[in-house]
Amino acid sequence: MAPELNPFDIANAGEATRLIRGGLHRSPFDETAEAIYPTSGFVYSSAAEAEAAFKGEHQRYIYGRYGNPTVSMFEERLRLLEGAEACRATASGMAAVFAALASFIGCGDRIVSSRALFGSCHVIVDEILPRFGAESVFVDGTDLAAWEQALAGGAKAVFLESPSNPGLEVIDVAAVSEMAHAAGAIVVIDNVFASPVLQKPLELGADVVVYSATKHIDGQGRTLGGAILGTSAFMSEHVDGFLRHTGPSLSPFNAWVLVKGLETLRLRVEASCTTAETLAQRLEGHRAVHTARHPSLSSHPQFDLAKRQMSRGGTILTVDVGSKEQAFVFMDALQLFDISNNVGDSKSLATHPATTTHRRLTEEQRTAASITNGMVRLSIGLEDHEDLWADLDTALSTCC
Ligand SMILES: *Cc1c(COP(=O)(O)O)cnc(C)c1O
Repeated sequence: MAPELNPFDIANAGEATRLIRGGLHRSPFDETAEAIYPTSGFVYSSAAEAEAAFKGEHQRYIYGRYGNPTVSMFEERLRLLEGAEACRATASGMAAVFAALASFIGCGDRIVSSRALFGSCHVIVDEILPRFGAESVFVDGTDLAAWEQALAGGAKAVFLESPSNPGLEVIDVAAVSEMAHAAGAIVVIDNVFASPVLQKPLELGADVVVYSATKHIDGQGRTLGGAILGTSAFMSEHVDGFLRHTGPSLSPFNAWVLVKGLETLRLRVEASCTTAETLAQRLEGHRAVHTARHPSLSSHPQFDLAKRQMSRGGTILTVDVGSKEQAFVFMDALQLFDISNNVGDSKSLATHPATTTHRRLTEEQRTAASITNGMVRLSIGLEDHEDLWADLDTALSTCC
């Protein structure tokens, strides 16, 4: 549903203004903050009005599974940030990934995907969609020749994550999109690690962007959420019917948390990024660290590409401290960082991917996705960087 026309041209305003004002739709009570509409249904003044609504003769809210005013505010604000024609919210990031792919993939269709994916994304591409007759092909996302070879057989979809979770592999989105389009594929990108602030995949040539709004968009560990962004045609031809009939709807309360999260998204991501850059540099020189990885480090294998397609390196970094045992000693010695499998939170978090988020992969698949047993993923929050450094430095001295 279109938000009320604001006399100020919000769509063409600066990014900070769009994040605060975009999609705002005040009720007749003229509240300052966005309202929560906790309602499952909507009422009609007559039977004829209900009939007209179901015929699609006039745009209005019909049922909570199809749309809700608070959810619309979140969708519109994120749409304006991404610069997409359309945005659809979902109850979680995985609901967004699944709906974006399953809404147009069918029996006999090929999906070509980068190998280094978030655990559940890998399960969708590798196990769930093939159960419905789709064929999945995995490639090393950083190897353009591998994409070219895999796409030579044609494809219905290309799926990728850049930077990848947790290996931080950076994929050339423009080059892969060009090859994918030549093969007739729709390019779906999981942009969670970069966040909508640091990377604009649609400008690079991707067709569809998916988010776990649970991560930076909420960014305060409160709620799950997700979103799909793309053209209006993609939504009306594929996504709308899929969401309407399968029902992964975002609740109005969670949409409200997320719409307020967007207001501070840029400030939070920029601040965490600054700390992540500082910590990555110090960790790289630490005697207990075998390798430190962050797209801002010149030692990152795709440093030049990351600089070209991302405005900054992001809020997440990894360190390899040698072995699973050393990683556990290091994590258990942390006093400020929490051990948690989430990312993009205001609280700094440490994860051992090989035994948690990526436990389902075989050792071989983990190696191919550059996930080692000694790797610890650090999601950098908003604490003082000197406190975070002191915590890391002390914990590292215990493990090695
Ligand atoms: C967390 C995450 C998801 C899944 O999001 P949920 O909101 O937890 O369902 C998908 N992709 C990436 C890269 C993630 O980090």
